[in-house]
Amino acid sequence: MLGSIAQRKGRFGSARKTYSEEMSELDFSQLDRIAERWVGRTAERSAARDPLAAAQNVTLRVDRSAERALRKGHPWLFADGIRDQSHDGRAGDFAVIFDRRRNFLALGLYDPESPIRVRILHHGKPTPVDAAFFARRVQGLAELRAKLFADDAGTNAYRLINGENEGMPGLVADRYANTLVVKLYTTAWLPHLRHVVRPLSRLTGAQRVVLRWSRGATRALNSLGESELPGELPGELPDELPDELADGVLLGGLALDGPVLFWENGLRFECDPCRGQKTGFFLDQRDNRARVEALAGGKDVLNTFAYTGGFSLYAARGGAKSVVSLDASAPALQAAQRNFEHNRAIPGVAGVHHETLRADAFRSLAELAAAGRDFDLVVVDPPSFASRQGEVERALGAYASLTRLALGVLRPGGDLIFASCSARITSDDFFACLHAAARRAGRPLREIERTAHPADHPVGFEQGAYLKCIFAKVP
Ligand code: SAH
Repeated sequence: MLGSIAQRKGRFGSARKTYSEEMSELDFSQLDRIAERWVGRTAERSAARDPLAAAQNVTLRVDRSAERALRKGHPWLFADGIRDQSHDGRAGDFAVIFDRRRNFLALGLYDPESPIRVRILHHGKPTPVDAAFFARRVQGLAELRAKLFADDAGTNAYRLINGENEGMPGLVADRYANTLVVKLYTTAWLPHLRHVVRPLSRLTGAQRVVLRWSRGATRALNSLGESELPGELPGELPDELPDELADGVLLGGLALDGPVLFWENGLRFECDPCRGQKTGFFLDQRDNRARVEALAGGKDVLNTFAYTGGFSLYAARGGAKSVVSLDASAPALQAAQRNFEHNRAIPGVAGVHHETLRADAFRSLAELAAAGRDFDLVVVDPPSFASRQGEVERALGAYASLTRLALGVLRPGGDLIFASCSARITSDDFFACLHAAARRAGRPLREIERTAHPADHPVGFEQGAYLKCIFAKVP
């Protein structure tokens, strides 16, 4: 894992530049060149000072139901909602959307490859979308987050920009100490990326910015997956991406020579922002991890789908007697072990018996039960099982199986913590499914709490709500 980061070192001229504390701005001139090349137009024109007048805009008229959705502020225009269109646009063109009476409705980023044909940047009255527009939006979000974590000296990793939930559709940005990770869900951002990355790195004082691409959630039930994010639809990486835009490259700043270290609630974690799942870490589980810490004292804990041991570390600090981290990914479990090392100074972490188990969770839970191993607290945090609407039934079946299997290793009176990160499974269906499975197993759940999104992952529209979690006592 580390080798691959090292190999990326010095891939760009800008990355080889010596960093000094005084250097206030990172060099993103490469992004300017990319923007020009990508759409084959000049930097000035792509800034599109007046998109309504600019010839390269795609103008669209939409049908009644798309119109209704856009008036309510929905961030997506699907291809099948388009009635007519000025011409075939390119990824990253601005799309100007009119209603059936030719009134301006919204403006967004056009993507001819995606069923989400336009990702909306602005609803309501016409407005210029230019570098200043993006800078204002980025500044608003960066300031919001800085305020949110201002009193939290123990945390320097959080989501800065949560995609369509915050007016930046198809773009997510996470901060890990001085490293920013920008993850894109559409190539439509490429000509505009510099207008986001420059202000974001300046406002956060970042040392480097890493680019990640969403692969879409096409994974099968038992394969390695990452949780679903707003805007994630089945699909492959854009295959026309040049090397300097590959998944995990450095867009600017200091090259990485190892994992990034950061703090979360006073715990030290490492992550690999270039190759790790999601953007390197599951920041969205921060609050749930803290809840597990409060419950873990004196307990034998099983953390299934443990990834790099997030829940495990919190359980250990909370005084757990023993912790098992179970995951199918060997690199993730190696990082989990290192994360325990990073926190050796904490008595709970130093004292706990920690074991990693590399296995398929479904099979392993059955084997643990057959071997008579049991636990006082079990965390179940699987990847998204439903990347498409057609997979919802199968996903609910998997949640039911996992409930039964987890109860099979949970002692009477134990705690079950079970999360779902699939936007396509509603929280009602998810909680009902778990309750039904537990009843069938003869061990009905007594709920302690239901939780949803942490404050740095705000929900701005229906499909943006993906995370739900139940905390329950089991007889
Ligand atoms: N709880 C973690 C995040 C879990 S992400 C945290 O707080 O950081 C989901 C994890 O499930 C990934 O680490 C992935 O490697 C793992 N995974 C996916 N399918 C699996 C399977 N069938 N068995 C075990 N682990 C699996």
